Amino acid sequence: MLRMEYYLGEEFKKAMSSSLLSGNAKERVVLPSQPLDVSAVVPLYNEVESLPVLMETIARTLQDNQLSYEIICVDDGSKDGSTELLKQMAQERTDLKAVLLRRNYGQTAAMAAGFNQARGRVIITLDADLQNDPADIPNLLAKLAEGYDLVSGWRKQRQDAMMTRLIPSRIANWLIGRVTGVQIHDYGCSLKAYRSELVIDMNLYGELHRFLPALAFIEGARIAEIPVRHHARRFGQSKYGLGRTFRVLMDLLTIFFMKRFLTRPMHVFGWFGLISMLLGIATGLYLTFVKFALGQSIGDRPLLFLAVVLFLTGVQLFSFGLLAELLMRTYHESQKRPIYRIREIVGTSGSLP
Ligand code: UDP
Ligand code: MG
Repeated sequence: MLRMEYYLGEEFKKAMSSSLLSGNAKERVVLPSQPLDVSAVVPLYNEVESLPVLMETIARTLQDNQLSYEIICVDDGSKDGSTELLKQMAQERTDLKAVLLRRNYGQTAAMAAGFNQARGRVIITLDADLQNDPADIPNLLAKLAEGYDLVSGWRKQRQDAMMTRLIPSRIANWLIGRVTGVQIHDYGCSLKAYRSELVIDMNLYGELHRFLPALAFIEGARIAEIPVRHHARRFGQSKYGLGRTFRVLMDLLTIFFMKRFLTRPMHVFGWFGLISMLLGIATGLYLTFVKFALGQSIGDRPLLFLAVVLFLTGVQLFSFGLLAELLMRTYHESQKRPIYRIREIVGTSGSLP
């Protein structure tokens, strides 16, 4: 059984209602359109055995802490009967919203679908396989209330296979930390808490859900990490194998680029392109001098090839940079996405007393 030994005391409630959740959660009557304290977002693919226990434990933890909440369970095209069970449960329970995807899109897409439905001021994500323990949710919320935008779980005692999971994950975590500058131990842990405004307009592609902390960091979020429990899988099996490591590496490259050059691609491509072009021109001029002033043959000189390659590469990099600039502008402007993020605006200048 999953344990429930943590309780969100009054102390914490106060912190939540002042800094995180405006208004007193206990007094608030929650109408469908009103925001909730917490949305638990659960992506689910073939986890039929876990579902009943999962719903029960999430609901109990949140109820025990007097939080208004909803559970958004996203069925990612399951084939083992999870879909039917989920539908039935959603009709019986008032705290559950089932989002059924048409086919299997992958965990990232399932999470994004959940985010788009969420009404909570805080969004908690967790796996459906009971490997994450809902009993850790209060701890995440408490940390969030200290003033963070994102609190990530750290599976300190992770219950997965050594060779195929733990070692690749160690390496990946180290690399991701180095590249992104967000030094957390465990990127792969699904159990995380976010302030909702952080994820609401975050665009997720590939398997980028793993990089949400890094993406959030790029957007200026304050990030914390706390140890959480982790259980071995009780039912079914993991949906991933070793192949995931390589996809993670590719996603990492994307993130690296986004972090460094998203709003200024010309600074990279243009610069390298220009240097390469100038070197090519200089070499070419030198060869022209050798040919006409000194009267030597240059047709068989390696330097000639170098000049050509440098010049062409330069032109390509330069035009690539220009294209990237155009794309970047389209990226920001088509979504009315500013190049900055505001944390808070204080005061109302110009308003009459
Ligand atoms: N999942 C999903 N779609 C997929 C693969 C996985 O929604 O295509 C869900 C899965 O049901 C689980 C979570 O994502 O709730 C994490 O998957 P898994 O437990 O297999 O990953 P692991 O814990 O082994 O890293
Ligand atoms: Mg799992």
